[in-house]
Amino acid sequence: MAISAETIAAIRDYVPGVRDLTIGGRPVEPAGEQWDVYNPTTEEVIATVRGASLEQVDQAIRAARDAFGPWSRMSGEERCAAINSLADLMEERWEKLLASIVNEVGTPVSLAEFLQVKMGIGHLRWQAEAAKKDRTVHLGSYDIPVPTMSDVDHFPVGVVAAITGYNYPLNLAIFKFGAALAAGCTVVLLPSPRTPLTTLLLGELVRESDLPDGVLNIIIGGADVGQYLSSHAGVDKVSFTGSDAVGAKIMAQAAANLNGVTLELGGKSANIVLPGCEVESFAVDMHLRWSRNAGQGCAALARLLVHEDLYERFLAAGAEAFKHMKVGDPWDPATNIGPLIRPDHRDRVNGFITEALEQGGKALLQVETPLPEKGWYVNPVLLGNLPHSARAVQEEIFGPVAVVLPFRDTDEAIRLANDTAYGLAANVWAPDLAEGRRVAEQLRAGTVWINGGGAMRPDAPFGGAGRSGVGRELGEWGILEFLEPRHIQWVV
Ligand code: NAD
Repeated sequence: MAISAETIAAIRDYVPGVRDLTIGGRPVEPAGEQWDVYNPTTEEVIATVRGASLEQVDQAIRAARDAFGPWSRMSGEERCAAINSLADLMEERWEKLLASIVNEVGTPVSLAEFLQVKMGIGHLRWQAEAAKKDRTVHLGSYDIPVPTMSDVDHFPVGVVAAITGYNYPLNLAIFKFGAALAAGCTVVLLPSPRTPLTTLLLGELVRESDLPDGVLNIIIGGADVGQYLSSHAGVDKVSFTGSDAVGAKIMAQAAANLNGVTLELGGKSANIVLPGCEVESFAVDMHLRWSRNAGQGCAALARLLVHEDLYERFLAAGAEAFKHMKVGDPWDPATNIGPLIRPDHRDRVNGFITEALEQGGKALLQVETPLPEKGWYVNPVLLGNLPHSARAVQEEIFGPVAVVLPFRDTDEAIRLANDTAYGLAANVWAPDLAEGRRVAEQLRAGTVWINGGGAMRPDAPFGGAGRSGVGRELGEWGILEFLEPRHIQWVV
């Protein structure tokens, strides 16, 4: 899997033609509302799609329910093989998946290739293996009131509603359905209405794969469909990735049936530069990370906390790093910042910048090359001179905008880093690992990177505290979200 200029030329205009839902292993013509899907780079309508009707949501849940018994009783080896058959098809059709992502999200092609397609397939294969794991815990004896022995095994929760956000349509879906299927659950997957095409294409692969009919159902639709699905009595668990505002609604909707939720929500993650760091050595890495996918990443490390002694050096190194930001056509392999998803989102991001400047904030660093004529772009900017209470410092912007705040000592850095409603991720730039770990262990964040890296490992948990969500995805923790523990006790 490597993207060449020839491959790019061959696939750059590709838009999946799949419009059918995948219900019970069959293509189903959608009967719900119709809407347009845009390419955020060209501003053109690239597809008109129709969503599921509420009856079709019922149908998908019924198909998942019917498939649940046989799927959950299959051996781990059989489930592993079936999941891997889907991974094989994704590997075979990776170019179509990639083109679909670039054209509906505007993600730069090299990022989409690495972070969505390659990483997504790798994670799915890890989850397939995890289906085989024996998770039984042997507790041993307990003698009150009579001598007994106990084991704890697990059973799958049942039918999962998986609802995803727009920014990384392929891997966000895999994180959910891969873990749910490995656990023995069945799934109804609903992607964002802004980026439904990659998931519809995935549906075609699901139908070709060895996954039994009804194990993974794919529907599309807007908020009404999401609301109906997440509050449906036929669903046992809701796994959601999206904004904290919608996450709160999902929790309330799922409460109607006392269903559990996993919520992967937003963040305002801190990027701490401790005293004694060589800021020049990581400036490029740091600035290209928070601006990745035009800042449309839940774990965007866009709150930069910099020790005051390093502040001037940090800005000078940052000015050099900003020269590495290439805003433009996501199909150009040199581009690292594409457009934002829609004009209203671009306006919202620009609104944060305008408000910060009106409140005395300063644009300390900025890409100033003219923006392409078409496309919903925002040039990356680093804002400073803002109080920690400013909206741009506290709220998730989800665009190529970072804020920088100087701090006096490490205790203040830790206090500022934790002074947020979110708790998703953080990065600590430290002069040595011991100091990095000392700070990391005091941060309220589901993931802490020390001195860069930034990978989401398939075997490590991902998720957050506070308004960043409930529960975890990935690794064994992600599988356990879809399993119920069962205590089995016997008298000896
Ligand atoms: P969003 O919350 O606007 O929408 C997400 C999904 O929810 C969409 O599919 C939408 O149709 C659906 N939805 C809307 N209203 C609903 C309702 N009442 N009931 C059920 N479903 C409903 O999010 P978005 O703009 O697509 O994605 C961006 C957000 O996602 C950001 O906040 C980002 O931080 C977050 N995110 C989090 C993670 C993570 O793993 N923590 C990963 C990626 C994105």
